[in-house]
Amino acid sequence: MAAIRTENLTRRFGDFTAVDRVNLRVEPGEVFGFLGPNGSGKTTVIKMLTGLLPITAGDAWVDGLDVRTDAERVRERIGYMSQQFSLYDDLTVAENLQFYGRIYGLTPARLRERLEAVAALNGLSPFLGRQAGKLSGGFKQRLALACAMLHEPKILFLDEPTAGIDPVARRELWDLLFELSGQGITFFVTTHYMDEAERCSHVAYIYFSRLIADGTPDALKALPEVNRPGTRRLEITAPALTRALRLAREVPGIRSATIFGQAIHALVDEALDPARLESELARRGVAIAGIRPLAPSLEDVFVELSTRRQAEREEAHA
Ligand code: ADP
Ligand code: MG
Repeated sequence: MAAIRTENLTRRFGDFTAVDRVNLRVEPGEVFGFLGPNGSGKTTVIKMLTGLLPITAGDAWVDGLDVRTDAERVRERIGYMSQQFSLYDDLTVAENLQFYGRIYGLTPARLRERLEAVAALNGLSPFLGRQAGKLSGGFKQRLALACAMLHEPKILFLDEPTAGIDPVARRELWDLLFELSGQGITFFVTTHYMDEAERCSHVAYIYFSRLIADGTPDALKALPEVNRPGTRRLEITAPALTRALRLAREVPGIRSATIFGQAIHALVDEALDPARLESELARRGVAIAGIRPLAPSLEDVFVELSTRRQAEREEAHA
């Protein structure tokens, strides 16, 4: 049984369709990455799945329960860390947990037991007496996650949990999610960050209300739309990168080129093999450290698929 499943899930606000016939399947224990630009419908999907917003059309099941008819039981089995999740800065870590535990209706005995457990799981045990406002960004997010886990949910919805925290804390939070998923918790996580998407066992990308990609990162990178016949991707390393980029763009057969870290990523005609490209660049006075074949990144995948979807939209509106 899927942890989460939707069939043509749709939400309209007046005549605007915020979520358009979305089909998702999330397996138990997965860390499912849900990506998409701002305003594409991610939060609206989560709100429907958690029973906070009525479904306009289509169906959704969470832990096998129909969200439309069983919202109450769904709520007992899920945790939700919203984008606006708020901690009480002037309360301690323990007091925040107690506050949320009472909201979830835990008995005092159960609350004590769960407080210890979630604090340990989230690395918060040494900080129970600290004021929440004095925690670092990463630890605030851990506390928020701990609060969402108090009632021992099987499925957790995290809406942009790493927005605004530093890269080390981001990495640590993801390590934590994988550790928890190893214990059988399913995570449905929205993010803007591509490096985070690369780590997910499964990613889906929503663009202007519609799902345009869904699969493992490897499967998405192998899509024919992303690896068009007659083209290849090359990574070019060069000492003077910006100058190399400017001159590389003049080489016939280069379709697009952009700087990525310490290298240029280029999409080129198949005929332009590394040896020919190197001699073309040498003719333009560009010293090259190396050229090698490159697999598409997830960012390449989403850029390619969203450019196509955008062209379809423009055609439809023309
Ligand atoms: P994301 O989380 O991907 O940034 P949202 O799901 O928050 O996107 O929003 C998707 C779209 O739906 C946006 O255009 C937003 O303005 C619109 N929207 C969200 N909630 C409402 C609402 N309550 N009423 C009207 N429009 C809404
Ligand atoms: Mg959102």
